[in-house]
Amino acid sequence: MNGFMGRLAQRFQRFMTGRYGSDKLNMVILVAAIVLEILYAVFGLPALAILSILLIGLAFFRMFSKNREKRAKENHVLLQFLSEAKMLRKYHIYRCPGCRQKIRVPRKGGMTVDVSCPKCGTKFRKKI
Ligand SMILES: [Zn+2]
Repeated sequence: MNGFMGRLAQRFQRFMTGRYGSDKLNMVILVAAIVLEILYAVFGLPALAILSILLIGLAFFRMFSKNREKRAKENHVLLQFLSEAKMLRKYHIYRCPGCRQKIRVPRKGGMTVDVSCPKCGTKFRKKI
């Protein structure tokens, strides 16, 4: 493929060399921009359109950034947040009344369980 499209693809490939590209954070930013565009179409507030354009600009900035380490760190913060949010949906976090130790208990609809603290042995009852 050495036609015009081939040259264009090659040029783009060369341009992207050493640049960060896309990641999950960029996807989230772009989805947020689309949501803002839809809200703008519904409510007609110019601030929504401006914010949407800024988000798209941010996504492009991150995609073409050569500071890959910093962009990866930003993405890592998002991934960590998402995995914590996922964890919180599956578990309750309680604090031991004896020693304030955090204890993770799996969620089960409306059951009452006896929890015993692995650190100090205090027992307490919780509805999970
Ligand atoms: Zn304890």
